[in-house]
Amino acid sequence: MTDKDINAKHKARMQEQKANVDKRIAAAQEDKGLLLVITGNGKGKSTSGFGTVARAIGHGLTAAVVQYVKGTWDCGERDLLEKNGVTFHVMGTGFTWETQNKETDIQAAQAAWKHSKTLLQDPSINLVLLDEITYMVSYKYIDLDEVLEALSNRPKDQHVVITGRACHRAIIDIADTVSEVRPIKHAFDNGIKAQKGIDW
Ligand code: ATP
Ligand code: MG
Repeated sequence: MTDKDINAKHKARMQEQKANVDKRIAAAQEDKGLLLVITGNGKGKSTSGFGTVARAIGHGLTAAVVQYVKGTWDCGERDLLEKNGVTFHVMGTGFTWETQNKETDIQAAQAAWKHSKTLLQDPSINLVLLDEITYMVSYKYIDLDEVLEALSNRPKDQHVVITGRACHRAIIDIADTVSEVRPIKHAFDNGIKAQKGIDW
């Protein structure tokens, strides 16, 4: 086959692909608030959530963040996004495996959940990021049925992003878009410590 033939074949394939994509774009008519889940053991879940918040506020939408598990270090995204009108509620206890006090962890999780519920009833908030909430459901610090109910009854146009490992199947079932981040390798496994601006 000559170069010309290869090019012609490539062009025809691309045209066909474009026609298919155009058809699907034209067929997708519905507008609605989406529930997104970013789960899995690989790195990139919270950064994806915060990236979505940045994308939303870049378009002039309003956004709020609830961080369910928060390290003792500052996180770069909070400083930036708060300056741009994003409200943050940070569960005060640090990593649960650092505090190892179940009672105070449950209280903090419940307070963060109470705040999340008010956000999930507020139509003036266009996007809610519930960062690491999956762990609270796994530990049963917050009630799965309550989470499902609050998500299902939220304002019709409100988007929600949920991040964290091992997302409960029932949340995945009601979500619109679910991605699983799979680890291929991570610098930490080679003894490299968490890097500012990359890991927090
Ligand atoms: P990020 O905030 O970087 O998007 P994440 O939200 O996907 O990460 P978490 O489980 O919340 O992942 O972990 C938070 C911290 O742990 C980050 O500093 C991240 O780099 C690190 N981390 C994530 N995945 C791994 C992994 N597979 N091995 C070691 N460290 C990890
Ligand atoms: Mg995370």
